[in-house]
Amino acid sequence: MTHKFDTLAVHAGAEPDPATGAVAPPIHVSTNYVHELDGRANPLSYQRDSHPTQHRLEIALAALEGGERALAFASGMAAVAAVLDTLQHGQRVVVPDDCYVGTRGYVTEVLPERGVEVTTVDLSDLDSVHSACANGVALLWAESPSNPRLRISDLAELAKIAHAHGARLVCDNTFATPVLQRPLALGADVVMHSTTKYFGGHSDVLGGALVFARNDDFAARITQRRLLSGAILSPFSAWLTLRGCRSLPARMAMHCANTHKVAVFLATHPAIERVNYPGLPSHPGHAVAARQMRDFGAMLSVELRGGYDTAFAFARRTRLFTNATSLGGCESLIEHRAASEGAHSHSPPTLVRLSVGLEDADDLLADLAQALR
Ligand SMILES: *Cc1c(COP(=O)(O)O)cnc(C)c1O
Repeated sequence: MTHKFDTLAVHAGAEPDPATGAVAPPIHVSTNYVHELDGRANPLSYQRDSHPTQHRLEIALAALEGGERALAFASGMAAVAAVLDTLQHGQRVVVPDDCYVGTRGYVTEVLPERGVEVTTVDLSDLDSVHSACANGVALLWAESPSNPRLRISDLAELAKIAHAHGARLVCDNTFATPVLQRPLALGADVVMHSTTKYFGGHSDVLGGALVFARNDDFAARITQRRLLSGAILSPFSAWLTLRGCRSLPARMAMHCANTHKVAVFLATHPAIERVNYPGLPSHPGHAVAARQMRDFGAMLSVELRGGYDTAFAFARRTRLFTNATSLGGCESLIEHRAASEGAHSHSPPTLVRLSVGLEDADDLLADLAQALR
């Protein structure tokens, strides 16, 4: 029987434990497993290879993204590194100019040391993507909506461009989650997540994931690399993340509803120069987002009138929005990105990023109003 998405989120990987009947999935903390069980070879051997809680999470992640295989990692960056490390001397990766600062750090600090060519483009401009790929490309990296400017790129078109060059399209789907956007159905080959954000959902567990459209040699190679590099997710972290999957659709619905109200409020506020949120019809990527996403997400950024100091002060004056990094938790967060991103930052000095949480929308608006006074 095939189930709809919300049903999969609750049940995938979360069947009652066959050994005890426990309704909540068990956590197996053992590092090692006996070689033979009831006279048969035990498929489990060592925690760095695989463990039952990770296996359950991977079943859930593959089901939600519609892929053949999912791999859980110790963090989002471990998942980013696992994909980028497949690139060899002389190969090219094309990356967006607006993307997560850690991804930019990896492609600017690590890959050039290995002779990998890195080309940066505005991924929302397909003509630029075509020219960036003209001299050959092995991997096209997408992030849509992007961090922190909330740019939208057309994933189906990017998949066509990548495949025309024999390249793979990898999509960082952290901001959208599979509730709002399923890149594999649009033609992407691999989806990457920082599960630290919406999957965990409570700002208390670090993790990352890759979901592969096909369980092919590429997926097998990265599986073997994860074993060798040891970037696995601990049983407790896997358990918390699996727990987060079950309420993900419900949380995303409320996150999105609150964010729409926050964006509309900020868009008419005299202190705000620009609101970067794909749900506003004035956003340049609105039409593409409306086509490829189910809703517009719970991240937005604003560019304030004034300078760095005005924006920095705004992020410190909110009381309900906590001034902290990261995103995707129940609590609303606000952050001046340029101040926190460090060396690889491309964020404008007047940009403040908001992760809209699950509080009452009226309280959130009142807090922003007092902070913008
Ligand atoms: C946080 C984040 C990452 C990195 O994930 P970690 O879990 O912090 O290692 C990658 N991409 C995006 C879009 C993120 O927000």
